[in-house]
Amino acid sequence: MRGYDVAIIGGGLSGSSTALNLAKKGYSVLVIEKEKVQNCKPCAGGMASSMQKFIPFDMKDVIESKVKNVEFRWKASDNVTADLTGESPFWIIKREKLDQLLLDESLRNGVKILRPAIVEKITKKNDQWIITCNDKSQYKSKFLVIADGSQSKWAGYFKLGPRKPKFANTISLRIKGLGEIPRDAVRFEFGFIKYGFAWAFPLKESLNIGLGTFINNGSLENQAINNQVIRSFGFDDFSSKTINKRLRIWNGMYQINSDKVLAVGDAASLCDPFLAEGIRPSLISSFYAAASIDQCLSGKADDLNLYTQKINNNWGKSMAWGKRIAQVFYRFPRTGYQLGVKRKTAPKRIAQILSGEMSYEDIAKRVIRRLLTNSAG
Ligand SMILES: Cc1cc2nc3c(=O)[nH]c(=O)nc-3n(C[C@H](O)[C@H](O)[C@H](O)COP(=O)(O)OP(=O)(O)OC[C@H]3O[C@@H](n4cnc5c(N)ncnc54)[C@H](O)[C@@H]3O)c2cc1C
Repeated sequence: MRGYDVAIIGGGLSGSSTALNLAKKGYSVLVIEKEKVQNCKPCAGGMASSMQKFIPFDMKDVIESKVKNVEFRWKASDNVTADLTGESPFWIIKREKLDQLLLDESLRNGVKILRPAIVEKITKKNDQWIITCNDKSQYKSKFLVIADGSQSKWAGYFKLGPRKPKFANTISLRIKGLGEIPRDAVRFEFGFIKYGFAWAFPLKESLNIGLGTFINNGSLENQAINNQVIRSFGFDDFSSKTINKRLRIWNGMYQINSDKVLAVGDAASLCDPFLAEGIRPSLISSFYAAASIDQCLSGKADDLNLYTQKINNNWGKSMAWGKRIAQVFYRFPRTGYQLGVKRKTAPKRIAQILSGEMSYEDIAKRVIRRLLTNSAG
């Protein structure tokens, strides 16, 4: 049976980026991915350009658009535009391409990728993980990374993250052409979708459109409303193929590591519960996961507990406010739009959140300070 330092279940963004980080540190890594190829990922690809620092190659080939403006609408009117010039830019990238480049770079750095393969059983023997796949092949590893995404089977098995994960409902589609969305702008459309919103992010030749509900398990079944959304973006109807996905979102501070095993990305329930931002936490968790495993394998740490602490501190604290904001905003969206989006300083703050310069925690503290001192801000 072949042995590795680390085995990773899932070769999406979190899995491939953890693999690359570990391989660059000189460890032997196995990635087990259930799909043979991934042609279209249900992900709009919006990310803060500051995340380039977590990717060890130039991302210029995956960038489809550099966003200069963020447009907000309430039922296709009441326009607000946030100008991103001057802030660190926000990029739209093609997810399938980024995941593939990460896997290719991992391969070049010696990572073994097994696909298509489904993990059926994981046991521990002599302090090593024994992994059995559906074709009965077996592998062993010293550490295990759970990166199997929002429908993760293994996070629950190892009791990582919330016992009862929380999900956003989403529908996404890619339409040829840009409709009425400018090439260098993204659009957030509120008011049509109860308990959520819709978004339109431009690629070079097409538009990534998404609809999501974030509280109360809101439904996206109403075709008439969905068509209204599509029309607001400048298209006739829902003619393209749609993908429905339940996205696992952040739902509290939990332990996301155990003895020699940890979860990253969506499997660890890290996705932003207000705006569905999942690329940033995937890259951040992959970085700290590799750092923590490296500490253990090189004898500088005894366990992976620092990983959970780092993620809860660097991401969880902001998400705790993101969750509170989502609960109020999506329950009272008209008021939320007036106070949260139409406020004079809001566009700048929103731009700072999207570019990763400010966290929900920073915003919440400002609002609290303003309420206490009644000063403008
Ligand atoms: C409609 C939509 C739009 C989004 N838009 C944005 C956006 O604009 N910006 C942003 O930051 N985030 C966005 N997100 C969130 C983002 O896409 C996710 O957070 C991100 O994909 C998480 O990456 P991951 O690697 O953890 O999971 P995934 O990308 O889902 O990868 C998991 C991988 O594990 C594999 N797998 C699953 N089970 C097994 C198994 N048992 N064995 C082996 N392999 C397995 C899967 O095939 C997959 O390749 C969006 C999400 C949705 C649904």
